[in-house]
Amino acid sequence: MERVYTCSFCGRSSEEVEAIVTGPGVNICNECVAYAQDIIRSDINNRSLKITQPVPTPREIKDELDRHVVGQNEAKKTISVAVYNHYKRIGTEKHADHAELSKSNILLIGPTGTGKTLLAQTLARFLRVPFAMADATTLTEAGYVGEDVENVLVRLLQAADFKVERAEKGIVYVDELDKIARKTESSSITRDVSGEGVQQGLLKLLEGSIVSVPPKGGRKHPEQSLININTKDILFICGGSFEGLDKIIARRVGEKKMGFGAHIKDRKEIKIGDLLRLVEPDDLLKFGLIPELIGRLPVVSALDELDEKMLFAILTEPQNALVKQYKRLFEMDGVSLLFEDAALKAVVRDAMKKKTGARALRSIMEGSMMDIMFEIPSMDGVKQCVITPEVIRGQKSPDYQFKKPARRKSRA
Ligand code: ADP
Repeated sequence: MERVYTCSFCGRSSEEVEAIVTGPGVNICNECVAYAQDIIRSDINNRSLKITQPVPTPREIKDELDRHVVGQNEAKKTISVAVYNHYKRIGTEKHADHAELSKSNILLIGPTGTGKTLLAQTLARFLRVPFAMADATTLTEAGYVGEDVENVLVRLLQAADFKVERAEKGIVYVDELDKIARKTESSSITRDVSGEGVQQGLLKLLEGSIVSVPPKGGRKHPEQSLININTKDILFICGGSFEGLDKIIARRVGEKKMGFGAHIKDRKEIKIGDLLRLVEPDDLLKFGLIPELIGRLPVVSALDELDEKMLFAILTEPQNALVKQYKRLFEMDGVSLLFEDAALKAVVRDAMKKKTGARALRSIMEGSMMDIMFEIPSMDGVKQCVITPEVIRGQKSPDYQFKKPARRKSRA
């Protein structure tokens, strides 16, 4: 007769459950194993914030950003210090006689595709805090067609597995902040008229308040129970290209001073990043942001336009660089993939023309690699595949090297 065991945790017998694992003096059934796993998993989730404490130093944060983001040194430094202070502030007990540390949300200004989103994403991953992204252009004032501003927090809550406490320490990246600038006389009439209302809505989140959100997102319904989220410790990073802001700054600073005394003969020689670095709250006001919102974004940093050298580095250097990813993919098929430098330079030159920063790199590479990735798995014995500039230009197939066919043993 088969022996009957009893689960030491729930007391059910092996006849009542699917399986029982027996150990020295203790047994556990499959259901209790699953239950225990749930407990451990949720405990890890709850603890992940504490694991990262003490808060990494600004240098540690910057080192991590360096592993993923090329260039943008000043922005990285500014962010590292701001983030360090932010999480230090959260971890500090409040004392009546201590100065209260104010929240330092961050504004990143710079051309499209230069790494603003990547910086925010890398940061959240490193700090192991929930991260959500929102596009300011899709947000509207409550009651208008579009997304309510609070939905940004719903996404953060989802990223935090619906753990309010975790969400309240997360990072939100709001993209395209410049597109909700207030209409000024000089701007086009097609600009979103509700821009200012959206800015007011965002302000409520940025300044730290208790916001009720519908847990599943969408519009609030009277019968729906709402979740309260306190935004006081949520770090908001806003980004935008702020086209035209450089001109506002240039006008204020005056052409002479722009070169910081350097020998600048021609306006074209001035890098847009250098101009944007001189930004002051007044310039943002002129651009169309409301003063209260500017006040809630005390840390402002400018990103540089990417030049050919930086684009080349983006292709090859970061931990998840495209070239490394393709090499890994080919390796899985037993093929060693080589890119000639000239081929990568051709990719970079194409990307420069598109004026979308590093964003164009992926699509250009995909375009060139698609056919090759289609063919290689069904080609026999390929050992090496070399990508030349002609492959990138679509003029030739890659240079393949094949494994030597195994020789048959000759009979004596
Ligand atoms: P944006 O500044 O418009 O937010 P993103 O951060 O979304 O730009 O970048 C777009 C793409 O280009 C991403 O795939 C990102 O990995 C890459 N990229 C952009 N800038 C950099 C950079 N400085 N270093 C590494 N990759 C970058």
